[in-house]
Amino acid sequence: DEMEGPRRIRALHEDVVNKIAAGEIIVAPMHALKELIENAVDAGSTSLEILVKDGGLKLLQITDNGCGINKDDLPILCERFTTSKLKAFEDLQSIGTYGFRGEALASISHIAHLTVTTKTADSSCAWKAHYEGGKLAPAKPGQGADPKACAGRQGTQIAVEDLFYNVPTRRRAFRSASEEYAKIADQVGRYAVHCKGVAFSCKKHGEAGAGIAVPVNATVKDRIRIVHNSAIANELVEVELENVQYGFKIDGLVSSANYSGKKTTLLLFINHRSVDSSAIKKAVEQTYSNFLPKGGKPFVYLSLEINPARVDVNVHPTKREVNFLNEDEIIELLCDEIRMRLGKVDTSRTFMMQS
Ligand code: ADP
Ligand code: MG
Repeated sequence: DEMEGPRRIRALHEDVVNKIAAGEIIVAPMHALKELIENAVDAGSTSLEILVKDGGLKLLQITDNGCGINKDDLPILCERFTTSKLKAFEDLQSIGTYGFRGEALASISHIAHLTVTTKTADSSCAWKAHYEGGKLAPAKPGQGADPKACAGRQGTQIAVEDLFYNVPTRRRAFRSASEEYAKIADQVGRYAVHCKGVAFSCKKHGEAGAGIAVPVNATVKDRIRIVHNSAIANELVEVELENVQYGFKIDGLVSSANYSGKKTTLLLFINHRSVDSSAIKKAVEQTYSNFLPKGGKPFVYLSLEINPARVDVNVHPTKREVNFLNEDEIIELLCDEIRMRLGKVDTSRTFMMQS
C-alpha cells in the first residue's frame, strides 16, 4: 500500500509558453489582422492594402505606407515585449497609440510563417526578414536568416502565412474560409469607417475587384456609404458630447428614426481601438426602441475618447474588453444625447409636413 507522491513540478518549455500565449491573443485570423491594422495606423500610414487567401488561414497580407521599421530593429522585432510605444508602466496612463505591449508580432510569429518587408525614409533600400518562433529565420532551407536588401517603397508589408500550421486543433476548428473572411471584412470595415485620412482596400486573393475600397479623402459619411450602404448613410444624425466631470468626449453618427434595420450595427471605438461593449449596445437599443417600429434596430458609430488615466486598458492581452470609470453615468449621458438628437429630427419632419 504505497501512497503515490505528488508529481514533480516542471517549467514548461519556453516554446510551449509562447505558443499558449499566442493562441490567447490570436484566436482567429481577424485578431491577427486587427493587430496589423493598428500597427499600420500607429506608423502614420495613409494607405492600407489588405490581401486575404482562404479566409486568412493561407495568407493575410497588409501593405502600408507608414514610417517603416529600422533595419537595426529587425532582429528583435518579433521577440515578446519589444515595442517602440511603451517604456514604463506609467506610460500606460497616457498611451496614445493602439498597441502597447509588443506582443502581436511575437505571437503571430509563433503560430504562422511571418515575412516583413520594410523601408524607412532614410534607407536607400527595403529589407526583407523572415521569422519563426520569435526569431529571424531563413525563408527557405539553405538560406541565411539575416534580413535581405531588396527594392521597395517606404512603408511596411507584413505577410502572415499558414496561420495555426503548428496548432492542429485550432486549425481544424475553422470550417469555412468565407466565414473567416466575413469577420475580416467586418473588422476592416470598422477601421475603414473610423480612420479618417487613411485609404483602405481589402480583397480576396484571386478576385479582381476589392471587397472594400475606401479612398483616402472620404468623409466619415462617405465611408459609411461605401462600407455599409446609402440607406444608412442618408439617414445619419451627428452625436456630439463632451463632459469634463467624467473626462470624456463622444463623436458619432447614428441612424435617425427614419432608418430601421434588422439588427443593430454598433461600431464602437474607445480611444481609437475597436472594442465591444454589450452594456452600450443594450442601452442604445433600449433608447431606440421608443423611436423605431417594433423589432427595428439602429446603426450606431461612436468614437469615445476617455482620459487615458480613467481607462484600464491593461485588462487582457486582446484588449477587446476595456474598463473605464463612471461607465453607467457615461452611458446615460450618451443615451440622453441620442434621444435628444432623434427627437430633433422627428420634430423637423413633423414641422415640414405641417407647412
Ligand atoms: P506593439 O504594437 O504593442 O508595440 P507589436 O508586436 O504589434 O507591438 O509591434 C512591435 C513593434 O514593431 C512596434 O512597436 C513598432 O515599432 C513596430 N511595427 C510593427 N508594425 C509596424 C508597421 N506596420 N510599421 C512600422 N512599425 C511597425
Ligand atoms: Mg501592435
